[in-house]
Amino acid sequence: MQIDILTIFPSFFDEFIQHGMVRVARKQGQVEIGMIDLRAFSEDRHRTVDDRPYGGGPGMLLKPEPVFRALDVLGLQPGDQAPEGTKLLLMCPRGKQLGQSDLEDFAGAERLVILCGRYEGYDERIVEAYPWQHVSLGDYVLSGGEVPAMAIIEGAIRLLPGVLGDGESVLRDSFNAWPGAEGLDHAHWTRPPEYRGRGVPEVLRSGDHGAIEEWRRRDSRRQSSNRDRSGDEEQKTTEQEP
Ligand code: SAH
Repeated sequence: MQIDILTIFPSFFDEFIQHGMVRVARKQGQVEIGMIDLRAFSEDRHRTVDDRPYGGGPGMLLKPEPVFRALDVLGLQPGDQAPEGTKLLLMCPRGKQLGQSDLEDFAGAERLVILCGRYEGYDERIVEAYPWQHVSLGDYVLSGGEVPAMAIIEGAIRLLPGVLGDGESVLRDSFNAWPGAEGLDHAHWTRPPEYRGRGVPEVLRSGDHGAIEEWRRRDSRRQSSNRDRSGDEEQKTTEQEP
């Protein structure tokens, strides 16, 4: 998969692409990441990428020229349809909120082109001219599209076959319902068996796989029903008995 990121802050991604599953997928040759610095496509010697909005008001907007010119160089033309296998993703709080099924969809693409906005957003001609999918990370406003772009890249890359060592772990993650579960992952423990007075549910150390599965299903359902009660005491404690 080819992922091209258009941003005025390409160096944000320098570390990001060198760690974890993004690094693994790049090393495996499954993913290639292209950083496109929008400033390199500005038309003046100050490398300006923003300007004041017509009609007045606060803030600046991302100018059309650097974005159109960068997309020209990537071989992407204005129009109603993206090339086969390519998805053009516009980071935008007004877009459709990113969900696990979107990540699955993106992971199946041959090429993702991700435009990160800044300032008050985009000159509307950028929005109108290309067949963007408008993607929001959630109902809140960040200062730029770089963090949403990273969320998409991390979330999609871990779904590519062979990137996570154990393929089953993706299936057992939250939002990938496994048989009997209701969407959210159950709680987990590792060694030591006791730490600062806190133990591990006995059943998980019993070696009884049927009972362990059953406990995990129940805990998964519990996590789902507790989800909206953030901060209350029950959320913090997990069932200790099978
Ligand atoms: N004036 C805009 C916000 C601009 S924030 C509005 O009120 O809708 C600047 C840029 O940050 C946006 O263009 C977008 O690329 C990015 N951004 C901010 N919040 C985001 C979110 N929740 N999801 C995706 N991108 C976001």
